[in-house]
Amino acid sequence: MQMDRDRFFLELALEEAEKALQENTYPVGAVIVDEDFNVIGKGRNRVHTSQDITAHAEIEAIRNAGSTMFDAKINNKKFTLYSTLEPCPMCTGGILFAKIQRVVWLLNDDQGFGGYKKIKDSSVFLEKFKRVEILEEPLEDLKKRQLDLMTKWAKNPNNVVSLRKKAQVGSINPI
Ligand SMILES: [Zn+2]
Repeated sequence: MQMDRDRFFLELALEEAEKALQENTYPVGAVIVDEDFNVIGKGRNRVHTSQDITAHAEIEAIRNAGSTMFDAKINNKKFTLYSTLEPCPMCTGGILFAKIQRVVWLLNDDQGFGGYKKIKDSSVFLEKFKRVEILEEPLEDLKKRQLDLMTKWAKNPNNVVSLRKKAQVGSINPI
């Protein structure tokens, strides 16, 4: 039952990630759900679309949930955040600030900016991390869909590697 629900919300998050890639930005999506399983916030990466370095999917979802997030902080409501990728250090901070109590992600990001497990393992904010339950990579088929989006993103003209190459071509400072 829980896994069916997790699948449902992870698929919603994947739809956001797919939209992000269509918009030529990082394919990451996130959804926040309350304890009655209502979606209270959705977000997708807007780093390239808004030219905003901090516009990550999880932060967007927290922002879009608006004042409802105070229910988690003040009334101790149990909110779950679903993301298609392991949250980075900034989003991990956002999750702890928002007092989100459960985090589920489709794909670990050890090689990239994945920060949740690294910060947790460092034992800083230990008391805060103790209040959050995590579930990583629970569904193989949906994990593959996220991996596929990441592979497509690697070839996207907005990928930082492509942008750096373009910047060097136009450089007026030849070595
Ligand atoms: Zn992030």
